[in-house]
Amino acid sequence: MTHPTPLLDLTHAELANLLAGWGQPRFRADQVWDWLYGKLATDPAGMTNLPAALRDRLAAETTIDPLAPIHAQRSADGQTIKWLFRLPDGQTIETVLMHYDDTRASARARRTVCISSQAGCAMGCVFCATGQAGLARNLTAGEIVAQVLYAARWLRDPFQDLTGLQRPVRSDDRLTNVVVMGMGEPLANYERVWQALRTINNEAGFNLGTRHITLSTVGLPQGIRRMAGEPLRINLAVSLHAPNDALREKLVPVNSRYPIAEVMAAVGDYIARTNRRVTFEYALMAGIDDTPALAHELAALLAGLLCHVNLIPLNPVAESPYRPSTSENAAAFQAILEGRGIPTTMRTRRGIDIDAGCGQLRRRLGQT
Ligand code: SF4
Repeated sequence: MTHPTPLLDLTHAELANLLAGWGQPRFRADQVWDWLYGKLATDPAGMTNLPAALRDRLAAETTIDPLAPIHAQRSADGQTIKWLFRLPDGQTIETVLMHYDDTRASARARRTVCISSQAGCAMGCVFCATGQAGLARNLTAGEIVAQVLYAARWLRDPFQDLTGLQRPVRSDDRLTNVVVMGMGEPLANYERVWQALRTINNEAGFNLGTRHITLSTVGLPQGIRRMAGEPLRINLAVSLHAPNDALREKLVPVNSRYPIAEVMAAVGDYIARTNRRVTFEYALMAGIDDTPALAHELAALLAGLLCHVNLIPLNPVAESPYRPSTSENAAAFQAILEGRGIPTTMRTRRGIDIDAGCGQLRRRLGQT
C-alpha cells in the first residue's frame, strides 16, 4: 500500500498535478487549496463543494494535519499559549501563540505565532533548551505550515484542545503575524521553510502579507545572501547576543564557523540588495553580555547600518547558569544604544510561567 500524501507538503502546482492525475478539472486544485488555507479545513468530508467521490479519495489517499497536540499551557495572564505537538514519526515540536492587545485607538491587536523549523537544533546556543538537546531532523514544509494553521484555527474557532484550554470568546480573532523563531535554525532547513512561507503568503489561500512574516536566524551568511534574492520580501532578524567574537563564541558556538565580520558582511549585502531594515536580536543575560562597555561596542558595530535592535530579557532555563539582566541594567544598556543613535525596542518577556523560551516545555516534559 502506498503512503498517504501529506497535502500541506504540496505546493499549489504539485496539488494541481496530483488532482490532474486523478482526472480532476484544473479548478479543483483552487477549491482544495481554499479549503486548506482559506477555510482552514482538516477533514475532506467537510469540503462541501467537491464531489463525494473526490472527498472520499482525498480521505483515503491523503492526510492534512500532521500535528497531534500532546500538551498545552496558557500563561497566568492568558496572553501566551504554548503547544507541544507530536509529529507522525514521534518527534515533538513547540509552537507559541502570543496575544498583544494594545489599547491605543490607532493600534491593532496582534496575534503572533512563533513556529519551529526543525525538531531540535544543531546550533547549540548555550542559553537555549533546544540547543542543548541537539538536532533530530528538519521539519517538512507541511509540518511548518501546519503550526500556523493550528494557531489560526484555534483563534477562529472556540474549540477545546486536549488540555481543556479554551480560547477567549472573540469570534473576529485572526492570526496577524508569523515569526520563524521557535525550535531550529530556519536557514539550515532553507527549502522547506521557504516553501512554507510561500504557502502562507499565497493570495489564494492564507494570504499573510510579507511584512507580517519574520525569519530569525543565528546568522548563516550563505542563507542570508540567498534570502536577499527571494522575491518574497519578509523581515530578517539576526540573533547576535554579543558584539565581539570572543564572547559570542561562548554563547553561540556556530560563531566559530561564521565570525561576526562574516555575518555583518552578509547583512550588509542583504540591506544593499533589499533596502530592508534588519533586526538584531540581543538576549540580555546578567553579567554576561549586558555591561555598558558591551553596549558601546554593539553601538559601534552597528553604527550607520539600516537596523534595529530588539533587546530581550532572557527566558531562564532550569539548571542553566544564564539569568536575565535586571531591569535597571537592561534599561541602561538600551539607553546607551539609543543615545548613540541605534533604534531599539525592549521586548516584553512572554509566558515566563509557562516555559515559553524555545525548547523549555519539551525539555521539562522529557520529550527531547
Ligand atoms: S537559540 Fe535558536 S539557533 Fe540557538 S540553539 Fe536555540 S533554537 Fe537553535
